[in-house]
Amino acid sequence: QKELLKVNDLKQYFPIKGGLLGRTVNHVKAVDGVTFTVYEGETVSIVGESGCGKSTTGRAILRLDEPTSGEVVFEGEDLLALNKSQMRKKRKDLQIIFQDPYASINPRQTVRQVLEEAMEIQNVVPREQRAERIRELMETVGLGPHQADRFPHEFSGGQRQRIGIARALSVNPKLIVCDEAVSALDVSIQAQVINLLKKLQREFKLTYLFISHDLGVVRHISDRVIVMYLGRIVEIGDKKSVFDNPQHPYTKALLSAIPVPDPAHKSERILLKGDVPSPIDPPQGCRFHTRCPFATEKCKTETPELHAEDYMKEGHLAACHYMGEIESGEHKAQN
Ligand code: SF4
Ligand code: MG
Repeated sequence: QKELLKVNDLKQYFPIKGGLLGRTVNHVKAVDGVTFTVYEGETVSIVGESGCGKSTTGRAILRLDEPTSGEVVFEGEDLLALNKSQMRKKRKDLQIIFQDPYASINPRQTVRQVLEEAMEIQNVVPREQRAERIRELMETVGLGPHQADRFPHEFSGGQRQRIGIARALSVNPKLIVCDEAVSALDVSIQAQVINLLKKLQREFKLTYLFISHDLGVVRHISDRVIVMYLGRIVEIGDKKSVFDNPQHPYTKALLSAIPVPDPAHKSERILLKGDVPSPIDPPQGCRFHTRCPFATEKCKTETPELHAEDYMKEGHLAACHYMGEIESGEHKAQN
């Protein structure tokens, strides 16, 4: 498998200004040292509750917000080392789809104008071929070519998302970051858009970084899964390993909250105490210790690294001091 994207120790700290002089008094550590690889043609999902840093990671990769530090290596080249105009050109390889694609679009533009503008900026399709390309794109995403002359408000949510996808596709990207791309849609429409994304992935050899809080959707679409908590990765692995054999207590809790179709496999819902702590002053040691049923004194001071135990499938890693013992039943809930 070929590496397409390698994110290395990525950090995104947002300054908090305060006091009479408006100085930076603190930072929101939204992403705090995230490392992972995405291979060509796969779908990697990032899951976690709101505020865990998953969207911020996606935006930092595309440099929609300028990351604080780290590396974002795309096809062997560190994107963070590019100047603004080099990065603008790179955007034809890396596109993003948002929850509401029209939040960032001029409502007075027709779909045709939106698509034309995207192609114009990236200069990917010669002007005289754009009309034909737009016709093709509309069909590719399951809309009628005649609909290109309509305005955003004339479309349903699902259709708008198809237009967002067409806009991303118009520049022939390699990687698409889907940030909660189906989260606002009804379940039946969700399934249609996910199936469309899968079809397009096969057709155009696309790679997806799929950011979502919805584990049901993630289970459906992903090849691999990354679980984030308070700005850090707590678990990563093959979808099947993570869903069937979660290792981190946080992942276990998240998964225990989704309904399972087969009641025989119903496991007990793990309820977490308290709320997610502030990313301004995250807990020392394991960031999850304030909510973890298994936490000990050690968890309050020592930061667990991502690692594997010998019974885990290849590529499956989690960051917990006790995952082997929890798995074997040797380490029980502390409270
Ligand atoms: Fe829980 Fe400790 Fe493991 Fe963190 S390291 S997940 S606090 S048991
Ligand atoms: Mg988000």
